[in-house]
Parts: sequence; structure tokens; C-alpha cells
Amino acid sequence: MKEFAYVRASDADEAAALVADRPDAVYLGGGTNLVDLMKLGVARPGLVVDVSRLPYDRVEHRSDGSVLIGGAVRNSVLAGDAGIRWRFPLLSQALLAGASGQLRTAATVAGNLLQRTRCGYFQDVTKPCNKREPGSGCPAAAGAHRELAVLGTSEHCVASHPSDMAVALAALDATVHLRSPGGTERTVPVEELYLPPGRTPHRETVLAPGELITAVELPAPPPGALMRFRKVRDRWSYAFALVSVGVSVRQADDGTLDRVAIALGGVAPRPWRARAAEQRLLGHRPEDALLRAAAGAELADARPLPGNAFKLGLITDLVAATVRDLVTGADPAAGGHGEEQS
Ligand SMILES: Cc1cc2nc3c(=O)[nH]c(=O)nc-3n(C[C@H](O)[C@H](O)[C@H](O)COP(=O)(O)OP(=O)(O)OC[C@H]3O[C@@H](n4cnc5c(N)ncnc54)[C@H](O)[C@@H]3O)c2cc1C
Ligand code: SF4
Repeated sequence: MKEFAYVRASDADEAAALVADRPDAVYLGGGTNLVDLMKLGVARPGLVVDVSRLPYDRVEHRSDGSVLIGGAVRNSVLAGDAGIRWRFPLLSQALLAGASGQLRTAATVAGNLLQRTRCGYFQDVTKPCNKREPGSGCPAAAGAHRELAVLGTSEHCVASHPSDMAVALAALDATVHLRSPGGTERTVPVEELYLPPGRTPHRETVLAPGELITAVELPAPPPGALMRFRKVRDRWSYAFALVSVGVSVRQADDGTLDRVAIALGGVAPRPWRARAAEQRLLGHRPEDALLRAAAGAELADARPLPGNAFKLGLITDLVAATVRDLVTGADPAAGGHGEEQS
């Protein structure tokens, strides 16, 4: 591993100044992704600035129903927060479907959002990869891409974003709070945090140099909304999503859906808000044929590769089953296929 300096920042200004001043400086949250990438030689920082002890470690439930979640809140703390479990259950379910108890205790909200793709070529410094080494090529398209994306890709990169939590946040219309080195603050919707790969897959987010994620904000949930996160993976625990879905829906008295939010994971370079599917479902009863047609509408522009075309059918089945189970009150866990905790 390359030698590096470590500083534990005492406040946000110090942290931002340190990182903004040096192009080889990075923030450190729980280190569960960054340190692995440093060991692999994928990340080679000269300075690591620890922001995990900054005072962004609270989950604040506000009187208007919104929630402000500090960027340094640990994944396990957020998953176990009573207000989150009760009012935003898909967020808790998504967190508990990821990694392991030990990792979740270390991992932070900000680090989870910015974790890097699990594409095997990206993690292997002996292989070309446009994301790691711009212009070197993308072997995944003709090689191993079973886990990678089918939506929002480019010919230069077909990586998928691995975060389960981000999928739940996209379905919940979350915004991310950012703080620049000069102290200026701004917010971006979680979906817009990520840049499309285009010709520059090494540019992954809209963050400016030194910009710090300080919090994630959830708006108040619609009263009566039903929510669920589900994940399909190769192993029952300790595995990333092949496909996941975060759903929040509400049924009017006549059975039609008057609120629909659907986000997909494991299928795109960012959490993918399924707006075409939502449009097809809004104002209608969630019959199975319509649910499948809605998922089909979302996938109209999908660009599957030979090894991951199976994801299209999985997405369709998962979206249809998740919405149907929610509105009928079915509990998938009862059949052994629910939101298990690893
Ligand atoms: C074996 C294993 C299995 C896993 N399985 C899953 C899974 O199933 N689902 C899933 O979603 N995840 C999974 N993960 C990933 C895990 O969730 C992430 O590693 C974790 O969330 C990253 O958080 P962290 O705080 O440790 O980030 P770090 O590793 O500390 O940082 C990650 C990135 O975020 C940046 N960063 C950190 N904090 C800030 C900040 N405040 N502002 C700006 N940038 C910041 C860092 O510079 C770095 O680039 C798994 C990880 C492992 C090792
Ligand atoms: S899919 Fe993206 S991350 Fe994977 S090899 Fe291609 S360019 Fe690299």
C-alpha cells in the first residue's frame, strides 16, 4: 500500500481546507470501502482526512415530519432508529440488506453514498478500466458483466452503483446536503448526486473538490404510504444486489394509486428512479398486467449485455411482486423471501 498521511479533522472547515488544498487528499468515513481500495492499489491518496468524528452524527426528526440525517451517522444506527423503522421502513430494510452487522457499525451515510462500483476490472489494477484509468478501455462490455448495469450506461462504462441505501433514498425523494471548502452549502436530490458515465466515467459525482457531504434530508412521507425494499442477490447474505427495488405507494379509497415512487438498484450507475413506470401506474389500480407493463415502459431504453439481460425479467418480476405484496398486505418474509437481515 502506498504511504499516506492521516489527519482526524476537528471541524468541517479544517477538513475541507485540507482536502481542497491537495488533489491527492480524500475524506475517510468508516473506511469500509476506501481502505479496501487502498489495499488493492485502486485508491492511492497521499492524505486521508477522517471526517467520521465530525458532529454530523445525529438523526433529527423534525416537527414538520422531515428528517435530517447527519453524514457521519453509522449505517447500523440509522437502520435501528425507531423513527426511521416506523415512518421510513424501506430505508431501514435497505440498510439491513447490505453488508454485515460489523460493516454497518463502521460505515457512514456519506461513505455509503460514495462507495465505488464493485466491477471486477475496476478493482483489479492489472486490467484496463476507463473509470480507474481514463482512456484505457472497458473490458467489462465483452467480459464479465453479469452484475453490471442495463440502464443509463455508455459504451465507455457499464458499471452499476452498489449502494442499497441510495435506492431507498431515491424512492424517498431524499436530498443530499453539501458543504464547500468556503463554507457555502447547497443541496442536490440524491439521484442528481451521480453523473452519467458518458465519455468520462471517472467523473462520478457532482461534488466539487473538497465538497463534504454533511447530511441527507428526507421530506415527510405521504400519510398512509406503504413502503418496502427488496433485493435479489446470489447469496442470502453478504452479497450485493443483482437487482433491488425501493417502493413507496399509496392507494386511494377506490383502489387506484395516488402516490407512486419506485427506485431500482443494481441496474444503473446510480440509484435509478423509475419515473416512466410511476407515470404508467399513477391513477390506476395496480393490476398485475399493468405493473408488468409499467416495468416494461421503464426498460424501453435498457441496453442489456449478453450476460446480464436476465436482469430485465428480474426487474419486471420484482417491481410487480413488491407493489402487489404491499397493496395486498402480503408478507414476503413469511415465504422465506423477505427482507432478511444479514
Ligand atoms: C464485504 C462487503 C459487503 C458489502 N455489501 C454491501 C451491500 O450488500 N450493499 C451495500 O449497499 N453496500 C455493501 N457494502 C459496502 C458498504 O456499505 C460500504 O463500504 C460503506 O457504506 C461505505 O461507507 P464508509 O463510511 O465506510 O465509506 P468510506 O470507505 O470511508 O468512504 C467511501 C467514499 O466516500 C468518501 N467520503 C466518506 N465520507 C465523506 C463525506 N462526508 N463527504 C464526502 N465524501 C466522503 C470517501 O472519500 C470515499 O471515497 C459492502 C462492503 C463490504 C466490504
Ligand atoms: S464497466 Fe466501468 S468500471 Fe467496469 S471495466 Fe468498464 S469502465 Fe471500468
